Parts: sequence; C-alpha cells; structure tokens
Amino acid sequence: MESGNVNQGQTRVSVLLPLPLSGAYDYRADISLELQPGDIVEVPLGRQKRIGVVWGMAEGDVADGRLKDVILKHDGVRLPDVVLRLVDWIADYTLSPPGAVLRMALSVPRALEPPPVQRAYLTEPGFDLSSLRLTPARQRILDIAADGPPRTMRELAEEAGVGQSVVKGLWQAGALQELLQPADPRIIAPDPDRLAPGLSADQRVSADALAGAIGQGFSVHLLDGVTGAGKTEVYHEAIAEALRQNRQVLVMLPEIALSPPSLDRFARRFGVRPTLWHSEISQTARRQNWRAVADGRARVVVGARSALFLPFAELGLMIIDEEHDAAFKQEEGVIYNARDMAVVRARIEQIPIVLASATPSLETITNAEAGRYARHRLTARFGGATLPEVEVIDMRKQGPEDRRHWLSPKLTEALETTFEAGEQAALFINRRGYAPLTLCRTCGHRMQCPRCTSWLVEHRLAGRLQCHHCGYAARKPKNCPSCEAEDTLAACGPGVERLAEEAIGLWPQRNVLIATSDTVRGPDAAAEMVRQVTDREVDLLVGTQLIAKGHHFPLLTLVGVVDADLGLAGGDLRAAERTYQLLHQVAGRAGREDRPGKVLLQTYQPDHPVIQALASGDRDGFMAAESEGRKAAGMPPFGRLAGLVVSGKDFGAVERTARSLAGTAPRDAGLEVWGPAPAPLAVLRGRHRMRLLMCTERRIDIQAALRAWMKATEIPSSVRVQIDVDPYSFM
Ligand code: ADP
Ligand code: ZN
Repeated sequence: MESGNVNQGQTRVSVLLPLPLSGAYDYRADISLELQPGDIVEVPLGRQKRIGVVWGMAEGDVADGRLKDVILKHDGVRLPDVVLRLVDWIADYTLSPPGAVLRMALSVPRALEPPPVQRAYLTEPGFDLSSLRLTPARQRILDIAADGPPRTMRELAEEAGVGQSVVKGLWQAGALQELLQPADPRIIAPDPDRLAPGLSADQRVSADALAGAIGQGFSVHLLDGVTGAGKTEVYHEAIAEALRQNRQVLVMLPEIALSPPSLDRFARRFGVRPTLWHSEISQTARRQNWRAVADGRARVVVGARSALFLPFAELGLMIIDEEHDAAFKQEEGVIYNARDMAVVRARIEQIPIVLASATPSLETITNAEAGRYARHRLTARFGGATLPEVEVIDMRKQGPEDRRHWLSPKLTEALETTFEAGEQAALFINRRGYAPLTLCRTCGHRMQCPRCTSWLVEHRLAGRLQCHHCGYAARKPKNCPSCEAEDTLAACGPGVERLAEEAIGLWPQRNVLIATSDTVRGPDAAAEMVRQVTDREVDLLVGTQLIAKGHHFPLLTLVGVVDADLGLAGGDLRAAERTYQLLHQVAGRAGREDRPGKVLLQTYQPDHPVIQALASGDRDGFMAAESEGRKAAGMPPFGRLAGLVVSGKDFGAVERTARSLAGTAPRDAGLEVWGPAPAPLAVLRGRHRMRLLMCTERRIDIQAALRAWMKATEIPSSVRVQIDVDPYSFM
C-alpha cells in the first residue's frame, strides 16, 4: 500500500482513533467502500494497525501525498450519529481529547468482528422416515428438531436425554438438515404486558405522565419519591410503553445497586431479565451485549455509567435511578458525570429521561423548581408502610462508658429489643476495615502509606494494613517501625470489622454479617448477602454504604448509624448534602413492610442542620437552606466550578507549574481562581499534587476560559494538569 494522492475512485475521510490524540486524522479511501460517518474502519498509524471511526468527509489540510489508505471497513456494525455527537459534546465539555472519549464508546473491539457461528439442526422435511430404524431415542430427537428454533447437537442431545452420537447418526442418515447460525445466545424480548401490578392512585398519576412522554421528544422528569414508594414499579410502566412503541430503553444504576434481586424483579414484571452492562460481566457477555444493543436485539439494558456510550439504534427512554449518587461521576481518565451526560444524550436523541431518587441532588431540584424538569412526587410508602421514626443520640452525654466501645447504651438496648422480637437490625458506618489509624503507644508513630499522604487502614480479617487510595498493602509489623518497641501498635477508631467485633462480644449467640466492598465483591456476592438476610440467617448486618442502596428487607426494623458526623468534615462542597442523602438512604432500609422501623443516629453534633433535618424528616426545608447557602456563595448549581490538579514526581516542578498557572489565570469579571494549595491528598502514588479552583458565574463559558488559560500556560512534560469540570471530589 502506497501513500499518495487522492485519485479518481478515491476519497478522503477523517478518522478518529480511540486514543488520547489531539483530533481526527485524514485518510484516503476507495469510493467503493462507501464510507459514511460512524463507519468503523481499520487504518495504519505509524507501523501499527488501529481501529477508528469515520468522523467526517475530510477536506483536509494534510498534503495529498502523505495520506495513507483505510485498510478495511467493519461490516455490520457502526456507531450511530448520536454517539458521534455525544462523544464530541463530552470532549468539548470536559476538555478531553475526543479520542479518549471515543475509547469508552469502542470499549469492546472484539464486538466489531462478525459474531461466531455454530452448526444447528432441524428435521429434513423431504426425508423418508421408513428408510430409518426408529428407536425411541431417535424419535424423541426428531420430535424436538421438528419445530424450531434450530438447535446444536449438544442441545438436541440434552433435551432428548440421549448421547450426541445418536444425533450425529440421524444427521448422517439424512434425517436432519444442518444450518449455520450465530453462536450467541438468543435474546428474548421483554413482554411489556406480562405482569403489570395494580398501581396506587399516586403511582398511577406519575406512571401515566412518564409513559405519556414516550415518543414526544426531549423532556426531563424527576421522579421524586420517598424510600419504598414504588419508584421502580412506576418507571417500569414507562419502560413498558417504550417497548410497545418498539423503542429501546437504558436504565442506569450505580454499580453496586446492580444486584440480581433488582433484575429478578424486572424479570417478574417483563418475563425475562434485562441485558446487562457493568464491570463484572464476562468478556464474552460484553461482546454479545454490545452487538445486541447495536443491532436492536437487546431491548432493555440495565447498566452502570459506562452504558451511556452503548450504540443504541432506537433508544426511546433513559432512566437514571439513584440520580443523586456520586458513583455516576467518573473520576479517572475522562472525568465526567454520567447522569448529566445522559441528559445530554437524551437531548441529542430527542427522547425523555427520568431521574429517580428519594433524595434528589440539589442540581436536579433546582432544575425542577426552575421548570426545566417535570417533577412527579410520591409522598407515601406503598401499601401503608410507614416511614421510620428517627431518634438522635447525643454522644456527648449519652455515649459509651469507655473509649474502647462505640455503641451507646441506648443503641445497645434497642438492638437487644429488636433481636428479642425476632426482627433484624443493621449497623452502619461508612468505613471499611477494622480501624482507620494505627499508632505506636510508645512513640506516637502513625502508620502511613509510603506512596500517599494517608493513614493505613487496618483490615484485620485480611491480616493487613491497606491504603485506600493506591491499594498499597503490608502486614502489620510486630515492632514499631520508628522506635522498634514490640507489640505497641494500637488500633484507633472504629471500622465495620471493629463494630462487628463489639456486637459479637455482646451477643455471641446472634449471627452477625459484615457487608462492605471487601466482603461482598460483585453482584453474585451481593445476591448471596441479600439471600442470607432475607432468609433470616442474619440477625445483625454491619456495613458501609453497600447496605444503603435499594435493598428491601421486610424484617429489618432497626438501623443504627454509629457515626453520623463522619461525612461532615472536610472541604467538600457537598459534604452536608451527601451526608444527608446517604443517611437518609440508610434510614430508608428500616421498616419497609408492615412492621414499623426505627433509626438511631449517634452524633456529637446533634444541632447540625443535617442531623436536625434527618430527625424531623424535613428534607425540603434542609435542601432549601442548603440551596440558599450555595446561592450566597455563588457555588454550584448557581455558579460553575472547575478543579485543576497539578501533579508530578518532582515537587519543585509541580509547585512551579502551579504558580505559573496562578500567574496566567484569566482575570475576567465574574470569574475567580483560587490557589494553588497543596491538595488534601498531597501525595498520591508517589506523585505530588497541588490544586487550583476556578469559580465563575453561571453566564460565563467556563470551558472557553479554561481553554484560553491552558493555551497561555507552558506545562512541562514531567507535570500533568488534570481538569475536572463540575468537580465532586476535592481531595
Ligand atoms: P422505591 O424504589 O421507591 O424505594 P420500590 O419500588 O423498591 O420503592 O418499592 C418498595 C416495595 O413496594 C417493593 O417491594 C415493591 O415491589 C412494592 N410495591 C411498590 N409498588 C407496588 C405496587 N403497585 N404493587 C405491588 N407492590 C408494590
Ligand atoms: Zn497509598
């Protein structure tokens, strides 16, 4: 293949590669390939062959003579125009290279190959059976193979309960015909009318409004309903309507809420489980599901945030459940919020999108109040279940007697009563491991991560000290690394494991289960955890935010929050909002059926607005106050923020770059730049980190300001500047 001019019968196309390059490259292609934007091609890059996507018909300023040829086009798959526009939009908004965003849309290169085929069999219609010795085994196979779909030898043999050789014999005799068919499992379409529940009057109003929006263009809906109100049942009705209109549906959930029980619930309503998309599915399922979405066989996909980039051809509805959840924010690589970008996709697609939550984010509430989003409220739990009563325990006066215990007498007593009534309880603390800090009682040395500015967390079950930021792990040493005294390293503060230890000490005869991302890995383990609780094999569940999401345990009537103040400290803009949301979700696990629930909050700040709002149940009042505070400070959603993290191995270079960024920062009206300051996580994986923060009024185009700023600043190659538009993390 020679490089050269574009001749007759050839054309020029621009091809975007899924790599962090500055933009698309021009290539020469044969007209006979009939390339269109969205086509997936293979092209040379340097000495390698790469997959890319035709982004447009190039006019190009690259001299003809240097153009290389497109090698081939992948038939049978392409990226829909919407995905191309979404990639460009996100790249523009997040200031990321478009190729880095494209990589998320082309995350399964194997799906581009034609799917594997397999041999399958049906009876041969014209075959004369009288020429055959018909054993009962043979007859069974012929009966099964008479009506489709075509089955493999193995399937036929298994269904008939015979060996494969019997099937083979029939084929060799000519009684079966052989076909080639895709080897991927058949996908059965969900049935919109399979088992629709009777809805309450409230639920009906919301369900009708959502269903009525299908096929009517772009609209955003906030489904705002208390925990246990039946939001899932309501949006199922919208899904049913989309299916009736022959449209595909995407439901996005935070990854850990993607548990089999919620899929079983879908299956009860629609007859089959939805198609899945999350980090735990196998490579094979990933290839099959990507392809099934692209060719329209997959009608409903339930997935984590990366499902945003799937190549739906006929998308008609999107649902973002637990829309307030910070897990929708991707913090590495391309930094984006999948909830916000889903709204962008819905607008490009001109379809409705539903944001569901019991504790909507302030951004979403503000949009609803401004009339940009339609709001549908469900104010009561379904079926007469009541919301739990919340009581505050003032740890300054009612705390445990000594400093090695974490459960107050009041909480201990409530747990006791719950167990005696044959009911279940949960203790919540958002801290994995045994203890957040290990120090030497003799010299005061604290065990720190060698690569990060963070304490090592003791995980006693795993027998290690771990860094929660970089994954560093080591055995707990016998001697203090500093003063070398023996057996003086002591655990400080509680994590889930330590609470479980205290509970087991108090109630040795009760079954205690620890549930954190360390003990419950992946959806299957989550299903097992749910089963154990549902089947009453567990009296007390001790867990982190893993137990806050979505679960429905009928006999769980008491929730104890061990340290309600934990999320309130630190410089996070959303600390109060997020603590409220999390504790509200945790509290929502109590008393979801006929037995009323109770929630006890242990706190050292009983007067804090978050604690007060949880106790009084005044969510709207709390959010209104929070909103006032943000408005006064010009913070999101009333202003715009972008975080800059400057990092590198050499502290001097990082500091110089951060200072020079401060020097070149734009100085327009309505815009401020703060910093540089050392990041709270000042060293991460051996890289020094400094932060700057840009804050603007809403009317300002923050991306344009950031672009101009970056253009005006020289960044040495040893230093990295990571931009985070709409930051959630301030670490
Ligand atoms: P939410 O998501 O709002 O917290 P769910 O959708 O999980 O609430 O509903 C809570 C419980 O009530 C679930 O067990 C659900 O099956 C049940 N439920 C809700 N609405 C109905 C209904 N209309 N008919 C039967 N059961 C319902
Ligand atoms: Zn570390």
